[in-house]
Amino acid sequence: MKLSLLASGSQGNAAVIDNGDTRILIDAGLSAREICRRLDCVGVEIDSIDALLITHEHKDHIRGLGPLIRRHKISVYLHTNVVGRLSDIGQPASVREFTDGITWQLGSLNVKAFSVTHDAAAPVGFLIESREGKVGFVTDLGRVTQLVQQSLQGCRALVIEANHDEKMLREGPYPWALKQRVQSNHGHLSNVAAGRLLDKLLWPGLDAIFLAHLSETNNDPKLAKQAVEKVLSKQNRCLPTVTVGQQNQPTEWLTL
Ligand SMILES: [Zn+2]
Ligand SMILES: [Zn+2]
Repeated sequence: MKLSLLASGSQGNAAVIDNGDTRILIDAGLSAREICRRLDCVGVEIDSIDALLITHEHKDHIRGLGPLIRRHKISVYLHTNVVGRLSDIGQPASVREFTDGITWQLGSLNVKAFSVTHDAAAPVGFLIESREGKVGFVTDLGRVTQLVQQSLQGCRALVIEANHDEKMLREGPYPWALKQRVQSNHGHLSNVAAGRLLDKLLWPGLDAIFLAHLSETNNDPKLAKQAVEKVLSKQNRCLPTVTVGQQNQPTEWLTL
């Protein structure tokens, strides 16, 4: 199984997972054209994508959704509470609904959706399981709940939000109300909170960590990495790799 973050950050998010039989996208937060271009960069043909999973309906996760599924006949998996909110989702036949807490089979992958706290209709994280192991995917969450922590145990790769450095957010240019929103229970996870979560998820089988959804205004990739490496340094063993997702280009493939 391999994984690349095609884009990650407040301006747009998309990731691709491929286990050789089944290829999926998670989120489509760039224009359809740009998603195709980035897939091309990592050697994937858009028409070979089996399905698109959507975490929630914020623009930075669905910008390219309508055009993608209309032009390329891709099935899109949406939370039942989100379906009615999107006017631009093409043919109903291409829409599959899910609710959080359920696991379903998608080709040779098993997918589980679990709810997260964020200011959207029904935001979720995903657990993607293949014969090689599990990948946990969670961005856009205001706090780490018991459910999030339990859902992400035992993964070989984790994609975790490290949205902001708390000091940079506090002292930065955002208006007060927006600062409050970002740091609320329904906002975004800080670097320190991401580190704390990782501390609870470390196990010998964890090979790789991707830090995702970094704010360009309120974070610095170096600070995000430091916060996580501080946690990892307590471990006396072979450490997982840490990659910071970028807004402007895809990450290298991680192969499990
Ligand atoms: Zn987002
Ligand atoms: Zn969001």
